[in-house]
Amino acid sequence: MTTHKQIYLAAHPQGMPSAEHLVMREVETPSPKEGEVLVKTVYLSLDPYMRGRMNPGKSYAAAVNLGEVMTGGTVGQVVESRSSQYKKGDWVLCVNGWQEYGCHDEKAVRRLDPEQAPVSTAVGVLGMPGFTAYAGLLEIGQPQPGETVLVSAASGAVGQVVGQIARIKGCRVVGIAGADDKCEHVVSAYGFDACVNYKDEDFFAQLKAACPDGVDVYFENVGGKVFDAAIRLMNDFGRIPVCGRIANYNSTEAPEGPDQLPGFMGRVLVQRLLVKGFIQFDYQHLEQQFYADMAGWIKAGEVRYQEDVVQGLENAVDAFQGLLTGRNRGKLLVQVSADETIA
Ligand code: NDP
Repeated sequence: MTTHKQIYLAAHPQGMPSAEHLVMREVETPSPKEGEVLVKTVYLSLDPYMRGRMNPGKSYAAAVNLGEVMTGGTVGQVVESRSSQYKKGDWVLCVNGWQEYGCHDEKAVRRLDPEQAPVSTAVGVLGMPGFTAYAGLLEIGQPQPGETVLVSAASGAVGQVVGQIARIKGCRVVGIAGADDKCEHVVSAYGFDACVNYKDEDFFAQLKAACPDGVDVYFENVGGKVFDAAIRLMNDFGRIPVCGRIANYNSTEAPEGPDQLPGFMGRVLVQRLLVKGFIQFDYQHLEQQFYADMAGWIKAGEVRYQEDVVQGLENAVDAFQGLLTGRNRGKLLVQVSADETIA
């Protein structure tokens, strides 16, 4: 019998998840049935949505049940195949979750070509986060040349792509991030026009100065005080794709202070704002166009990306905590086993 390691949900976290909620165990490695492949995880993508899956109850996707392996998108290699479509050594995208090996029906995996792009990008700029940026900005944000696009969590997996697509579309691009080096990076590496650190005391004054013509599109990743500042700068007929609200994911109670909802609704009405929540899978019909556009932009050097690769499944919980506190620099991945495409 061969075994492998996996991390399962042992308890529902209240607030920040830790090693008491996400526990490692060793289990028997499954064997593929007819039409299935056994995939060895090389990269595990860590994403903010995972925090929601740790809560009991209904959301836009099913929760992970107690005792189940934690879900997650992965890039890996086929190590055993009972599928006519795949052979040993093939690179695939699948949902192995937080574990070293997983079996999948051949229809549940997507082939990757390591000659086309580094395989890790299939869970980053050329995968779900990149697609989220593309669909949310272009479909809901509708950025027009000369407009100002503001994006929060600007240096992260989604935000870095939002800003670069907006720049390609001829917009003035302003980011918001939680560290000076993140702000510097989005300006120097991705061509943002400006980026403001929301932890600075004079954050709102800096943001206002960075957006002299107001904000036409605010791509919302964060919530909390960042959202409160952004909404005050919106122009008439502005658009707000609501992609995420990471500042609230660990909240255990309602925010302190006066009720902001009447003021927010007043702005929505008076300024005729479009505020639209979305989940990236709502826009599956755009996927092929996304792959073509993004591959072209990367090849032309118009879109760049940063990955933050943490070594070892045993460090996944700590890395995930870092994602929820801003420690990551770019798209966060856990390297679970060796990537033979890297010399
Ligand atoms: P990131 O790579 O941006 O990493 C998360 C970042 O969020 C951190 O680095 C940190 O950056 C910021 N952050 C964490 N806590 C706070 C806080 N309390 N206040 C403000 N910022 C905080 O993650 P992703 O790019 O993968 O995800 C960005 C957002 O997009 C998330 O809200 C996520 O849930 C959402 N999302 C939504 C999808 C959809 O379909 N709707 C799909 C994918 C992602 P900093 O240092 O700048 O604070």
